[in-house]
Parts: sequence; C-alpha cells; structure tokens
Amino acid sequence: MNISDSERLASVLDGLKYKLTPNVKEADLIVVTMCSVRQTAVDRVHGLMPKFKEIKKINKNLKTVLTGCVLKKDKKIFIKGFDYVTDIKDIKKLPEILEIPNMQKMYDGTISKLDNYLDITPKYSNKFSANVPIMTGCNNFCSYCVVPYAREKEVSRPAKEIICEIKNLVKNNYKEIWLLGQNVNSYKDEKINFPKLLKLINDIPGNFWIRFTSSHPKDFSEELIKTMAKCKKYKPYLNLPLQSGDDKILKKMNRPYTTSQYKDLIKKIRKAMPDIALSTDIIIGFPGETKKQFENTARLFKDIKFDMAYINKYSPRVGTAAEKLEDNVSKKEKNRREKVLTKILKTTALSHNKKLIGKEIIVLIDSQKNNLLFGKNEQYKTIKINVQHPKPKNRYLVGEFIKIKTTEALSWALKGKLIDE
Ligand code: SAH
Ligand code: SF4
Repeated sequence: MNISDSERLASVLDGLKYKLTPNVKEADLIVVTMCSVRQTAVDRVHGLMPKFKEIKKINKNLKTVLTGCVLKKDKKIFIKGFDYVTDIKDIKKLPEILEIPNMQKMYDGTISKLDNYLDITPKYSNKFSANVPIMTGCNNFCSYCVVPYAREKEVSRPAKEIICEIKNLVKNNYKEIWLLGQNVNSYKDEKINFPKLLKLINDIPGNFWIRFTSSHPKDFSEELIKTMAKCKKYKPYLNLPLQSGDDKILKKMNRPYTTSQYKDLIKKIRKAMPDIALSTDIIIGFPGETKKQFENTARLFKDIKFDMAYINKYSPRVGTAAEKLEDNVSKKEKNRREKVLTKILKTTALSHNKKLIGKEIIVLIDSQKNNLLFGKNEQYKTIKINVQHPKPKNRYLVGEFIKIKTTEALSWALKGKLIDE
C-alpha cells in the first residue's frame, strides 16, 4: 500500500514538473511515505529527521514532506522535523503546500481528478507487475491495530475505474495485477462485491495473473472461494491472516472467528484449489499471551502447514484498545516464540516446495543478476534459475512468463533451469 501511495504521489510530482534525482543533497523536495502499523516503522522516520536537518544545512532549498499513514499524535512530533505533514488522502493539497503558482497550468491532464486520491493515475514503479488499490481504510478495529485510525473508514473504488485501470495495464503488457486493500473481501460498489469484481477482472482479455491482499477470514465467503477456483487468471496464492491460534487471544484481539472456523475455511479453500499456497500473518506476544496460548498457535501453525508467514512481534500502538493492556511478554520471549514459528515454517514450506521438484512450471521473471534469473511462480514462490548463457541473450526474459523445470527445493525458494536452453 505504501508503494502504491508513492506511485500516486510520483504522478502528482511529475505533473508539477519535478524530476527524480539520485543525489538527495541536490533535491528540492523529499517526500516520505510512512507506515504506522508497528513502532519500528515509526522509529525509522524519527531516524530520518536529524539526517534531513544535516542536508538542509548545505541545501537551503530543500523542502521535506511526510505523508502515508501518519497518526494524529505523531503528526505533532513529526512537524518538528518535516516542513509539512499531510494525509495521503490530501495529496491534492501538495501544490498549495509547495507554494507552486499557477498550479492549474502545471498539471497535465492525467492528474486533474485530485479530489479522490485513488483516482490519480499512478506512475507505476514496475513495468510488469502493478498494484491496483480497490479499497482503502478499515472498519474492523482489531484491538492492536492503528489502520482504522490512520486510514479511517472503508471506501471502495468504483469497479468501472478499477477495470479501466487494469485494461490499460494489460494493454501495456503488464503480467501481474495485485488488487490491494486493507480488507479486499469487504469490497462493495453497489451490486458488485469482491467475488463479482474478481470475475469482471478475470474476464478482461489478455495473458496476466491476478493476486490480492489483504483478506479477513470473517469476510471470506463461499462465493469467493468458488470464484477464485473458477477464475483462470487468479493464481493459487493466498495470504489469510490468522493472527493467533488461541481462541481467547483472538477474542482479545477482536478478531471475530475461532481457530476451528479458520481451520474449516482453510479446508474449504484447499478442497476447491488443491495446489494453493497459503501464507498468513501472526502476532506473537500479544498482551497476556501465555506460553500455553502460544503453544496453541504453534500447534495450529504446524497443523495447517503454511507455505509462508509474516510473523510480527506485538508492538503497542497509541490509541488502540490493546494499548490499555500491559505489554507483558518480554522481548526475549517474543524472540523465542518467533524462532519456534520460523522453525516450523521452514519445515512446512520445504515440504510443500519439495512436491514441485522435477515439475515444469511457469515463472514470471522479475530480475537477472549475471547468470541467475529470479522470479515468482503461480504460487508466489521465489524461483532462482541458473542460465548457461547469461545476458545479453536472456535479458528479454525479465517481465516475461517462461516455462522452467524445477531442480531443487529450499525452504524459501526453488531452483530450476530453462527447458529449452
Ligand atoms: N488487514 C490485514 C492486516 C493489515 S496490517 C488483516 O486484517 O489481517 C498487516 C499486519 O501487521 C497484520 O496482519 C498484523 O499481523 C500486523 N500488525 C498490525 N498491528 C500490529 C501491532 N500492533 N503489532 C504487531 N503487528 C501488528
Ligand atoms: Fe488492522 Fe486488518 Fe484488523 Fe483492519 S482488519 S483493524 S487493517 S488488522
């Protein structure tokens, strides 16, 4: 979502005739798009403030702007280190903030619709994989999470605009479309819900892959599972945040499902799409999480056998309901719990990856380094391909689908070779 926000920002700055410079010391403007989900991200922005102060000593023209997800209470602190702090929804104010005269003249046509920032045509940072936000905000108020405060209420983008953006991307040879939202499953544009939107996108002619994130188990309907299974362009990778494998902790987190409901859901998804790769988000060390409760998470984690997981150490966030609970699981214990889950994940991911050895699979190549090609397969697994005849011969492969044969499985990747080399 941060990358996607920055792509819209870049487009506005383009319209204002700013050019990218590799040298920050020469920059007239630095815009930082921040995240507030965990304190570590916020701390990184704090770390930038003295650096900017130093640069300003030698570059008096520099203006600094902070945007993205900024919490109200942090705004007051950050305004001391940045010239301007503004919500991403308000980037239309950027010309005014930067005191650019005759802004009307300076804009090009593509960014005239600034009232809703999602309507801005982004300047995509990647030439074959694009992030397309379909909704923003969140109404769920999980007790640990700042998103509903930072991004406010859910707003869905009109389906017509989403389809139009994707059609354009496909025309421009984009191969992978990521539908983004804090909770894509609750997408709603009049009669079009998320499964219907998925189907409409799948019907767009062209050779491209569809993926989406994030999902909330409570909104993951049977209709969605059926649609995913039917849509040929939707590729079998799903991130379905569990957060905890203990029912009491889930309740304290204000996640309205039980572990057995989550397990049932996974069963249904796997039945409909047997080759689906599953990833999840887990928070370890939520206030009051006992060793026993963590073991319930570890057990479920082992049981489900995820392909991938984002394991987050609980970070208290100001203004959330959980802030009132004592953050009483020590750092050391959080680290231990993280290690336990990582170890399980290493085993389960490897066992899934081993099943792919010797198979011919399609890979979307995203980069090349000497005689190694890197890419992702349909299940969003990292694939490394050793090529006999490195660049320039294989240069054209970046951004293309190619068929390869897998030769070796690791926990976090698979190795393979080109079939017709
Ligand atoms: N909308 C998604 C997640 C968005 S935030 C969902 O419903 O799951 C991305 C991830 O950050 C979350 O899944 C959660 O695991 C993590 N996260 C959010 N708040 C956190 C906090 N206070 N401490 C640690 N991790 C947190
Ligand atoms: Fe945060 Fe996701 Fe919960 Fe919304 S659903 S409050 S974004 S964790």
